[in-house]
Amino acid sequence: MRFIDLKPQYEALKSEIDGAMQAVVESTMFIMGDEVSSLESELAAYVGTEYCVSCASGTDALVLALQAAGVGPGDEVITSPFSFFATAEAISTVGATPVFVDVEADTYNLDASQISAKVSRRTKAILPVSIFGQPADMDAVNTIAKSAGAVVIEDAAQSFGAQYDGRKSCALSAIGCTSFFPTKPLGCYGDGGALFTDDGELAARTRLLRNHGQNARYRHSDIGMNSRLDALQAAVLRVKLRHFDEHLSMRQEVAARYTETLAGVPGLVLPTVRAGRTSAWAQYSVQAPDRERFIAALAEAEIPTAVHYPMPIYRQEAYASLGLDPSDFPVTEAVCERIVSLPLYPFMERGDQDGVVAAVREAMGQAVR
Ligand SMILES: *Cc1c(COP(=O)(O)O)cnc(C)c1O
Repeated sequence: MRFIDLKPQYEALKSEIDGAMQAVVESTMFIMGDEVSSLESELAAYVGTEYCVSCASGTDALVLALQAAGVGPGDEVITSPFSFFATAEAISTVGATPVFVDVEADTYNLDASQISAKVSRRTKAILPVSIFGQPADMDAVNTIAKSAGAVVIEDAAQSFGAQYDGRKSCALSAIGCTSFFPTKPLGCYGDGGALFTDDGELAARTRLLRNHGQNARYRHSDIGMNSRLDALQAAVLRVKLRHFDEHLSMRQEVAARYTETLAGVPGLVLPTVRAGRTSAWAQYSVQAPDRERFIAALAEAEIPTAVHYPMPIYRQEAYASLGLDPSDFPVTEAVCERIVSLPLYPFMERGDQDGVVAAVREAMGQAVR
């Protein structure tokens, strides 16, 4: 069994994907072009925003969003320490300083009730992460940001397709950023990303910045970067987007089965999804009291696992200079000790799902049903 197996999805879509990629190769239009602009329209329609701007990765989407929002040196950006490194890295890349706020014990998302205490005159943006696929408490974050005069950028790298009060992740604040890294809910066959907004100026500005600040051929009004999505990735994504809702429900079915069959196992903490929200299930992560033993027991049963994430971002060597005190983040500290993700992907065989459940129950000292 693989932790995430992308092969069965490819097999299911093989003729469509191969055809779409072949057409790009024949066209020799490899960078930008119709394939990319069509994808952007389709993504915006799916998410429900006015604009979508594609780019080369989820990390770049965050950098472009921050730059377009005018975040730079001297500014502070409030964010979660319980995320992939790229979230904070993007803030540092534009010269701003990440200011971490602890997460909620049940969703692992930024704890909105603790944001106000970290707002300062320098707070320019708030960057909540919709971790593991479940949107953060975006209404609460937006309200605080409004009174602080800060822009809200959702890191929706893991939550494309998820819902919050009937609206889609990426459309829940001024800007939403996502990643098309192969193992994300909507993955391409390389690196890719996009950002979403209803603000025409922000959209225009990010379009400019992703292409060297070029406003007319060989005319550059701004210092930008090369962060274009290539047409081959766009072609793959257009095919996958057509099947996305179906594959998303397959993920949700696996997650629901795990939750149903693992409920009540003593000591095991299952993921919870708050009322009014859905998860895109980028990860199905549980907390096990003795994680190393738990992982070893699963490995014994040939069940792969992964740890998202073993270390809070403020503990990373790159952020040693911030000199933060881990005791200020008790929830993040505890979760990083115990969190572990189980295999989950669309087209995961029933038998494999059963195998995971049996191994988890056994690892937790439970009789196998
Ligand atoms: C994957 C991920 C990113 C970065 O996306 P890339 O496309 O790999 O650059 C950023 N934030 C979070 C939460 C992620 O999971």
